[in-house]
This record gives sequence, structure tokens and C-alpha cells, in this order.
Amino acid sequence: NVEDLSGLPDGAVDHFQSEGIESLYPPQAEAVEAGICAGESLVAAVPTASGKTMIAALSMLSAIERGGKALYIVPLRALASEKKAEFDAFERFGVTTGVTTGNYESTSDWLATKDLIVATSEKVDSLVRNGADWLTDLTCVVSDEVHLIDDRNRGPTLEVTLAKLRQLNPALQVIALSATVGNADAIADWLDAELVDSDWRPIDLKMGVHYGNAIQFDDGGTREVPVEGSKKQEAALLRDILEEGGSSLVFVNSRRNAEAAARRLASTSGNHLTPEERADLADIAADIRDISDTETSEELATCLEEGSAFHHAGLANEHRTLVEDAFRDRLIKVISATPTLAAGVNTPARRVVVRDWRRFDASAGGMAPLSVLEVHQMMGRAGRPGLDPYGEAVLLAKSHDEMDELFERYVWADPEEVRSKLAAEPALRTHVLATIASGFANTRGGLLEFMANTLYASQSTEAGRLERVTDDVLTYLERNDFIEREGDEVAGATAETESDDDAGGFVSAATMAETEGAADDVELRATGLGHTVSRLYLDPMSAAEIVHGLEEADQRPSALGLYQLIARTPDMYELYLRSGDDETYGELFYEREAELLGDPPSEYEDARFEDWLSALKTGKLLEDWADEDDEYRLTERYSVGPGDLRGKVDTAEWLLGAAESLAAEIDSEWTVAVREARARVEHGVREELLELVGIRNVGRKRARQLYAAGLETPADLREADKSVVLGALKGEKTAETILENAGRDDPSMDGVSPDATKGGDGG
Ligand code: ADP
Repeated sequence: NVEDLSGLPDGAVDHFQSEGIESLYPPQAEAVEAGICAGESLVAAVPTASGKTMIAALSMLSAIERGGKALYIVPLRALASEKKAEFDAFERFGVTTGVTTGNYESTSDWLATKDLIVATSEKVDSLVRNGADWLTDLTCVVSDEVHLIDDRNRGPTLEVTLAKLRQLNPALQVIALSATVGNADAIADWLDAELVDSDWRPIDLKMGVHYGNAIQFDDGGTREVPVEGSKKQEAALLRDILEEGGSSLVFVNSRRNAEAAARRLASTSGNHLTPEERADLADIAADIRDISDTETSEELATCLEEGSAFHHAGLANEHRTLVEDAFRDRLIKVISATPTLAAGVNTPARRVVVRDWRRFDASAGGMAPLSVLEVHQMMGRAGRPGLDPYGEAVLLAKSHDEMDELFERYVWADPEEVRSKLAAEPALRTHVLATIASGFANTRGGLLEFMANTLYASQSTEAGRLERVTDDVLTYLERNDFIEREGDEVAGATAETESDDDAGGFVSAATMAETEGAADDVELRATGLGHTVSRLYLDPMSAAEIVHGLEEADQRPSALGLYQLIARTPDMYELYLRSGDDETYGELFYEREAELLGDPPSEYEDARFEDWLSALKTGKLLEDWADEDDEYRLTERYSVGPGDLRGKVDTAEWLLGAAESLAAEIDSEWTVAVREARARVEHGVREELLELVGIRNVGRKRARQLYAAGLETPADLREADKSVVLGALKGEKTAETILENAGRDDPSMDGVSPDATKGGDGG
């Protein structure tokens, strides 16, 4: 019973009871028995929606009650705000929560006063690099979705961050929450933690495959779900569950497919709406159109009016939240989603349909099957405790053979093992530099020792691999001036003597061993540039590219030149070249070649040339944005979602901010050009509007309107004839606020009428 728990802050038990939690779920009880309330580390590998958050909460609250401080690491920004909202309820009994996700350069000192901090793994990594003092006060760290250590892109950061936090405080309590994976015991070994490995679920899950006119379930049962005429299987499955009063999640493999499926399913869900539901949905659709004026937004609003929605990473955050809330309120009957929805965000449905079990994978050069782990996580979203009698998760087969294959591959299969991806070079490059720069290791030996505390080391069977890749990375970092090795000369000298000996035909094993021993003592130090790169949270390869580009520029670089340069770095996710783009951007390349920075590849270096063109396409998108093209046209022209455009702009802003610091570090004369290009991309404006957008509440559109009315600077606004301002801005309130923000003493617009001869519709 929750009542019997001890060691928690006063009021915590009442809080859980008010949330409807009276007794612990079995895995939670096991975790308490394993000692989580007494500082014991734990790996909890349990299915989605089985109450992992409660395990984390009990650990953190008891740690805080003992005078400690807790950190909750999430894999996605969207989850950070969700968790923060959940933990904010602890404020009632005096536990304060802070959240930090963005701004990789700050140490967020204000967090030192909070008991509980929620952050993404990238943010925690950067806090470690920037030496945030309060990190040493941490006594309990929770890592949510720890199986993501297996992720090629983001896994290494999480892995290294956990290793560093443990090095900072060897007594640290680590609570690792994981989906059910093949080797939870190995993760527990690595973290010196207890293990709760369970497949218990609060609500029964029936897994099956739909083929022909029925679902075959894993328990041997079947359910008739006939597919009529030319209808799709997912439409039949949706209608069937709607007739019972349930809702459905449909997982597909791409954004485009999510949108197409939502459009098609709208005709089915639309038939099951009451007039009240229609009215509520119409209101939400209006909110969606209000948030942004793009094709995606219009598309979403149109489907949503019929009770159907799509959900993918290209949606704006506000859109995503509206969709999730309306689905939980049972207004939306079906969401067609890409797998991002499965990894977090609490949106269960009675029936989950996994429509696509293959997706495009560039490294496989075609379609590749999803992992068992991913499919199980999607399936785990089925069933809302307290609302549904059970959850149903269904895969779709087009043939009898495919049905057999799906049972084998997913329904009966165990999830894969989690394997460290740290030995991949881009990951090591970044983390080796950061480890040296932040002082976690200052010799080669120390570095290898630190590496020995990673999951990679505990899983590696190939002797010497980590050491070899680490040495390659050290060489790369030294060559690009990010680190210095001291004592190198000594090692070099020994090697020379050795080869002399060699000439004489004699090298003793002892001499060899000694040489290696000396190499271990070689002192490693980050250079000024190296420190900057690590602090900026850049991939060293990105930094090298930028530094090189700036050094090679013999005249003031143009915005496009800078945008293309940062788009070339591994930190910017480039736009793909679509058919026809080769030609378009090939032409643009020759036209504007003089503006591009660094060494352009020749046309015969296929891969590199293509890379330059993709970067040019991305750079051109940014230039168009900074030339004030409107959002709608840009998303059309480049076939991207509004969320993608935002993402590119944010990344560009960050990389150019970093480029500015690098420019200062190498005494480049182009610092101002970089700063200007950054400001233009930040606000999406041409140079002449930069002063105006510095005023609060003046965005790109308003700035352009003001400028067109002859108001070019904040000073102009302070002195202008009010009727001109009003004519340019339309709306008294807006005009007043802006005049006030521009520092005008008498912003009031009482009795002023707009001057129709200037401004007006001039925007
Ligand atoms: P997970 O993190 O494992 O996906 P959550 O922690 O989000 O799952 O829990 C899913 C739901 O179950 C939440 O709504 C939570 O309030 C509820 N819950 C958790 N533990 C209990 C419990 N012991 N009794 C009743 N409900 C619980």
C-alpha cells in the first residue's frame, strides 16, 4: 500500500492517493523492495504505461527527503515539459522542480535552488562540459528510455553523460527506466544496479495480425473484421472499434503517409461524430489554423473537423499538444502517427494498428524492417487503464505468408539487446574532446580509464578496438588544433631509438611495453579553440569546417556563403536533393560559386559534390527565409513542414552563434558578417530591418510594414507622427505597445487616426 511507504516527504503519500494511486503495481513494489527509497540504483525494464514514472518519483522524492537533489533525464524536449508539469504537483509538499532544455552554453545556475531538475540528455551533457557547479550536489539521477543508448545518433551522449555523472559522484543513485529489452541485466551490471525486469502490464494486451476478414490473436482467438470493397484494412479496423466506442492509433512509416492516412480515415471517423463533438472539433480546427498559416496546418484542421488527425515531428509543438489533448478528450477518434508518438507522450488508445512494419533506411539503401523493440513500444500504447477492457494491437498482413512472418518476427519475438554505439567515430570525436576539455581526463591513460567505465567497454569483445579508435580521434583532434599532446617529443624520440635498434635487428619486448607505457602518460590538453568547441557543443568536425571556411575567405562572406558553410557541417541535417534538384542547384552552384567558402569539390567527386549541393539547397532555404519570403511559400517550395523550417532556422541560429565565437577565437576579420547573418536568420529579415526587429513585439511582418511607411529605426518610431505609425501597424493597442517598447514617452493613440496617404496597405 502506498500508505505504508516511508522515507518520503510529508504530503507525498496524500498526493499519490489523490492521483488515484492506492497500491503499487507489482514492478513498483519490486523496485521498492530492491531499495529505491534507500538510495539503491535500479534498472527497471517494464512495458510502456506500466508506471515507470512512479518508480522514478519514489526514488527522487526519498533522495530529496534525505537532503539530496535529483535529475530526471528525458530523451525528447516534448517529454521534458510533460514531466515538468507532472512533477510541478510536488510543489504542494515543498519539492521544487526546474526544467532546462535549450541554450547549450549556459550553466543554468538558477537550477541550483531547485530540488528536482528535468533536462534532455544533450542539455545534461552540455552542463557537464560547462562545469555547472550544482551537478556535484546531485544524489539521484533518473534516465528515462535508457534503451536509447542503442541509438546511433543520440545514444553515445546519454552513455557518456551517465558515465561522467557517476564519476562526479561515485555514490550516485542511478535509476534507469527502459522498455523491455533483450539484455536489461547487462545494463544493470554496467550501472552496478539492481534489476526489475518484468512484462507485467496494468491492462491486458492482445496482439494479433489482421488478414482477409479477421484478426488472429496471439491467444488463439479471432475477431471478424471484414474489409468492404476497395476500403483499406485500417479503415475497417477503425470502424469496427468506433462501433464499440473505442479509439485507434495507426502507426505508419513516414510523414507523408501519416497525412494521407489521416485524410482517408477522416471519412470513417466523420460518420461517428455527434453534433456536439463536431462543434468542439470545429473550435479546435480554428485554433490550429490560427497557430500557423501553412499547408500542413490547413490539412490538419480539415482532417480534424472529421475526428481524424496526424502526428509527426514536422508538426509545430502547439499543434501536437492540441492533437494529443483532443485525443485524450476522446474528440479525435483516430491519430495516424509516425513512430515518434510511440516513444513517450501519453496517448493510449483501445486499438493500435501497426500498418507499416518497414521504413526507408538510407544506410540499408531501401526499406528495412522496424526493430521488435520499436514495434512492441507502439503496440504497448494499446489500452487505457480504467477505460478499456483490454488493449488490442494489430499488425496488417496482405497474404497468409506475411501473416505467419509477422507472428514470427514481432508477436512471438523477444526485443533486441541494447548495444553501445560509442565506438563510432563521430560520437567519439565529440566525446573525447569534451572529456579532455572538461578535465575528466588529462592523459591518454586517464582517457582510456574513463572510457573503461562506459557500456561500450563492458560489451566490447574485440580487444583493442576502443583504444584504436580513440587514438585515431586524438590524432584528428590534434591535427585540427583542438588539443595538444605534451610529452609527444619524448615518445617520438624513444620510437626513433627503437628503429635504430631495429636496424640492428634487436627490439626487446620490454622496450616496446615501455614505449606504450610512456604514451599513456602523455598529457592531453584542450587548446583555446578546443575549449570553445566543447563549450559550444559542436561536433569538432563542424568546427573544423567552419574555421577552415572562415580562414579561406578573402573577402566579406555573403549570407548565402555562411548559410551554405554551416549547412555543410554534420550538425545540420541537410535537405535531400529530389529529382531535378541536381540541375537546379548545379546551376545555382556555378552562378554563386564565388560566394561559397572553403574548397569546393570538383564535379567528379560525386558524393562530395552532391553534399555541397544539398548544403546549397539548405543554405538557399535559409537565404530565402532571411530575404523575407513567407512561410507558406517556403514550405511549398522546399517540400518541408513548418516544423522542419523552424528546426532549420533554430539550428542555423545556433551554428552561426557558434561560428561567431569561433571567428573571435581565431581572430577572423569576419565576425561582424557572421553576427549579421545570424541575426537575419533569427528574425527572418533583410539587413535593413535588423534594428526594427530588435524592438519587442516587432516581428518580420510588422518591421517590413513600418519600414515601408518610412519608419526605419527605433529613433524614427520615437519621433514619428503617430498617424503614420498607426497607418503602418493597424490596431491601436499594437501601435501603443510597440511605441512603448521603442522607448517613446507618450505612446497613447487616443484620438489618432491612421494616415491613409502613407503606409496603410503598404506592407
Ligand atoms: P510509463 O512511464 O511506464 O510509460 P506511466 O508512469 O506514465 O507509465 O504510468 C501510466 C499511468 O498509470 C499513469 O497515468 C499513472 O498515473 C498510472 N499509475 C502508475 N502507477 C499506478 C498505480 N500504482 N496505481 C494506479 N495507477 C497508476
